[in-house]
Amino acid sequence: MDDDISSTENDEPPGSGWTYTHSPEVLYSVAPSSKDSLLKRHQQKLNKADRRSVYTGKFSFTVQTDTLKRACKSNPAAFAAGERSLYFRKEYFPDISDREWNDWRWQLANRIKDLAGLEKIIRLSEDERRAVDEYRGLLPVAITPYYASLLDRNDPLQPLRRTVVKSGEENRILQGEEADPLNEDGDSPVPGLVHRYPDRVLFLTTGFCSVYCRYCTRSRLVGNHGGEYGYNMQQWENAVAYIEQHREIRDVILSGGDPLTLPDSRIEWLLRRLRSIDHVEIIRIGSKVPAVLPQRITPALVRMLRRYHPLWMSLHFTHPDELTPETALACNRLADAGIPLGSQTVLLRGVNDSVEIMTRLNQGLLKCRVRPYYLYQCDPVQGSSHFRTTVDKGLEIIAGLRGHTTGYAVPHYVIDAPGGGGKIPLLPNYVENHDGATLVLKNYRGDLYRYPDPASPGRGIIQSGDLQREELR
Ligand code: SF4
Repeated sequence: MDDDISSTENDEPPGSGWTYTHSPEVLYSVAPSSKDSLLKRHQQKLNKADRRSVYTGKFSFTVQTDTLKRACKSNPAAFAAGERSLYFRKEYFPDISDREWNDWRWQLANRIKDLAGLEKIIRLSEDERRAVDEYRGLLPVAITPYYASLLDRNDPLQPLRRTVVKSGEENRILQGEEADPLNEDGDSPVPGLVHRYPDRVLFLTTGFCSVYCRYCTRSRLVGNHGGEYGYNMQQWENAVAYIEQHREIRDVILSGGDPLTLPDSRIEWLLRRLRSIDHVEIIRIGSKVPAVLPQRITPALVRMLRRYHPLWMSLHFTHPDELTPETALACNRLADAGIPLGSQTVLLRGVNDSVEIMTRLNQGLLKCRVRPYYLYQCDPVQGSSHFRTTVDKGLEIIAGLRGHTTGYAVPHYVIDAPGGGGKIPLLPNYVENHDGATLVLKNYRGDLYRYPDPASPGRGIIQSGDLQREELR
C-alpha cells in the first residue's frame, strides 16, 4: 500500500476509527493561480543588496528575515525562495504557480517516489538505479520537490543526495544491526507509546514522513502503512489514556514519523488533549519538516501551536546545505511563535563527518534561531553500516567545536545505547591528570591548566579567588 498523506488541513478533528485512508490525489485541491514567474516576483521583492545576501556562495546564505517576511505578508501565496529551488522549479515544474509550489500539500502530493521520477531530476548511478528499481522492503524513497531542488544532479556522493536516494549498500546487513536497535517496541506499554525514562514518553503519532532518510532508526515503522504498525484514533486514545493514568509523566514528545505532516486539526486535537492533563508540564514535537518541507510552517499552523505552550521543538537537520532561505523563514516563524527550537543531527559518514561541515551547520542553525542540541552517533539499524563513523570521529568533531565557536553551537554528542539503555553523553577527554589535590586540565588549544580541586582530601573549602590558572607550557 502506498504511504498516503494524511488528510486536508481543514478536516474535522479525528473521530473514533479514524485511520489513514486518503490518497494524495483527492486531498490536494488548490486552484492554480496565474502562471507568474517566481523568479520575477522574488527579484522584485528583494532589492539588489538583499539578493546578494540571500546566496553568497554555492550553498551559503545570509537571510534577510525582515525582507522575506515583508514579501510573504504582501502576498500570502509567496514564501521564501532560494536560488536552487527557483531554478529547479523553472526547469522541472515550469507550469506550476507560486501558490501550488508553496502549498505543502502540493509538495506532498508531488513527491518523487519511484525510478521514473528520480531519473527526471538526477542522473542516477548504476548502483542507485538498481537499488531503487529492486526495492521491495521497508523505507520507501520519497523526496519533496523542494528538497529535490537541493540535490546535486550529477554527483551521487553529494551529502544530501546520499541521505535520501537509496543505494545498494542498504542491502548489506551486518551482525549487530537490528530492525529496532533501541528496543523501542520493548518499552512500549501500549502501541505507539514508548515509556523508557520515568518522567517522559515518546508518542508515535504517524508513520508518515515527507522525506524518508536512508539511515532512519525507525525504518521499521515509517512509510510502512499496511504493515504491523498502524496509526489510528483508537491508538491515540489508548496512548492518551496511558498518559492520564501515569502521573509521573511530565514531558510528552510527539514524534513518528513526522507529526507536522498531520493536518492542523489533528495536531491540535492531540495538543488539546495532552494540555488538559494536569501532570503534563511540557510537550515537545520532533520534526524534519522545516528542513524538507518548510512550506508546511504556515501562519495558521504557528497561530495554532502557540496556544499550547510550553511547547518545544526538536528539529532534524543533517547538513548546512539544508539551511536555505525557505528553511530560515520556517524556523523564524516557529521562533516568533515563542517555541524554543533545538536541533538533532545524526553523524553520518561522508555526509557531515567533519569539523568544517559541523561548524557551518551549527553556526547556520544559530542564525536561524535553532540551538544545536544533540549530535547522535548513528544507530546500528539494519543496512546503515555505510553511514556509521567511528566514535573517535564524533569526539574529534566535538573537540573541534568546543572553544573554537560559540558554546551554543556545540551540541551534546550521545550514543543512544543499543537495546534501550537511553542516551549516553560522550565528551573528549579534557582531564590530563588528577593527582589528588590538583586537577590538570587541557583547554581547547591543548594548553594545560591546574585547578585546585576543593573536593580533594586535605583541602579546605575553596575561597573566592582560590582558583589559579597556571600555564604549564
Ligand atoms: S524524518 Fe525522521 S522519522 Fe522520518 S525518515 Fe527521517 S529520520 Fe526517520
